[in-house]
Amino acid sequence: AKADGRNTVRFFETWMEDAVARRTRLEVELREALTAGQFDLYYQPQVEGDRVVGAEALLRWRHPRRGLIGPVEFIPVAESTDLILPMGAWVLRAACEQLARWAAAPYSAHLTVAVNISIRQLMEDNFVRDTLAIIADTGADAGRLKLEVTESMVIEGVEETIAKMEALRRHGVRFLLDDFGTGYSSLAYLKRLPLEQLKIDRSFVRDILVDPNDASIARSIVALAQALGLSIIAEGVETAAQRDKLLELGCPRFQGYFYGRPMPVADFDDLVIAAVTQ
Ligand code: C2E
Ligand code: CA
Ligand code: CA
Ligand code: CA
Repeated sequence: AKADGRNTVRFFETWMEDAVARRTRLEVELREALTAGQFDLYYQPQVEGDRVVGAEALLRWRHPRRGLIGPVEFIPVAESTDLILPMGAWVLRAACEQLARWAAAPYSAHLTVAVNISIRQLMEDNFVRDTLAIIADTGADAGRLKLEVTESMVIEGVEETIAKMEALRRHGVRFLLDDFGTGYSSLAYLKRLPLEQLKIDRSFVRDILVDPNDASIARSIVALAQALGLSIIAEGVETAAQRDKLLELGCPRFQGYFYGRPMPVADFDDLVIAAVTQ
């Protein structure tokens, strides 16, 4: 048993070394990726009625050897270092540039763009100033930019966060609470946040047709949004039946594979034009 114990420890140490080495390599590669222009934004349609009303920008990494990598594989590492700050700034700038391009084209002038913001970005002293500078540089309409924050972020330093949200709100930038219902925020906080929209989390949409609890939760979120004067959108809508159920529960706006996966901007443009001209 003693020998086993030693082996376990040695195995654990080797495994830890590997994990640390992998992480360090990933960090180095991420830094290179930023300067080498290997990041890209994919856009996922948001639909109301038969109209594409906006897009959520989702980060992708075109790794020279490993191909396209999704954010869950590298955002946590970026967030545990300062890398998330230049990366988040790159995302905001790229999304605002796209917003300005869409505003100048006939079929896409109405689109809004939602950008995911990390807690680390929001905690930065210069977040408001830097965001406004990016908006000014790119010529984007602040009123078409939405920033997605999560419940847990908002609770860490709530006063500061509210002040920053209000400052950007005064310039037209809107905020929405992502993954709503999965965190643990109190309704007292929710009331104080200058939000425009709640996003019903995918985990409640998935089984909405078979699990009455999920349907009840979705219905409650809709009621809460209405009571607070917020708009509402559901994510993770994969079927027409889920869409119909959400509509019946009072949610008019959807995002999910049923309407389209996150896609390169050229494909998104084709989708918007097809929806208008069909
Ligand atoms: P999220 O903000 O909740 O984004 C929605 C995720 O759900 C996306 O995954 C999207 O591809 C996926 N999704 C959309 N519709 C469906 C559906 O119908 N079914 C299923 N099963 N999944 C669906 P993705 O692109 O892998 O992003 C994962 C997470 O990474 C995002 O979750 C967000 O938290 C984070 N993320 C993405 N881009 C950024 C970014 O630019 N900055 C930061 N800080 N985080 C980002
Ligand atoms: Ca999001
Ligand atoms: Ca989400
Ligand atoms: Ca989610």
